[in-house]
Amino acid sequence: MSGKNPKLILLGAQGSGKGTQAELLCKAFDLEHISTGDLLRWHRQHHTKLGGKVGRIMAEGLLVPDEIIFGLLSERMNQHDWNFGLILDGFPRTVSQGEFLAENWNFDRVVYLDIPREVVLGRVLKRAEEMAAQGKRRDDDNEEALKVRLDEYYSKTEPLVSWYEAKGLLLRVDGTQSIEAVQADIRKGLGL
Ligand code: ADP
Repeated sequence: MSGKNPKLILLGAQGSGKGTQAELLCKAFDLEHISTGDLLRWHRQHHTKLGGKVGRIMAEGLLVPDEIIFGLLSERMNQHDWNFGLILDGFPRTVSQGEFLAENWNFDRVVYLDIPREVVLGRVLKRAEEMAAQGKRRDDDNEEALKVRLDEYYSKTEPLVSWYEAKGLLLRVDGTQSIEAVQADIRKGLGL
């Protein structure tokens, strides 16, 4: 790994704690956090042309087409504010996205937050309720869209776990532990 400027990919199902762990790592090691979900929501909120194209797809819980997401990610990566380290969250979500990433940028490790499928739905439904109570419900936080998002994850994204494992890049962390224990395992596994 490139010293204290790690280039990391965070992989895990909805509700695996990716956002929380990314935030802790970014604060501690001054890393950029690049989340494709956040980039897409920015376009939705600002009513851009791209935002208009992806609105319905996102609300249904489906994956945005590669030609849109590749352009969006390239534009963000071209800012090069991440040279001192970054965490990529929400990308790649398919093996073809993984290939696109590998063709264009070098990443050191893939941190996989491993949680059993039975735990996932309970966690995401609880989070959706909490967000709704705070008035921050997302368009895709209804039970139907959540089920679609999980189906997309298990059919298209999870194959990336063995794909990265075969490349020797995967760090598997037990995501069912406390926030602190997960964070400690990540740092230990990465030698940070
Ligand atoms: P979550 O992990 O909770 O489903 P994200 O914020 O990562 O949420 O993504 C929200 C939505 O944005 C996804 O359901 C999908 O429609 C779209 N999206 C985000 N990243 C990608 C990606 N890499 N490829 C395709 N669609 C994406």
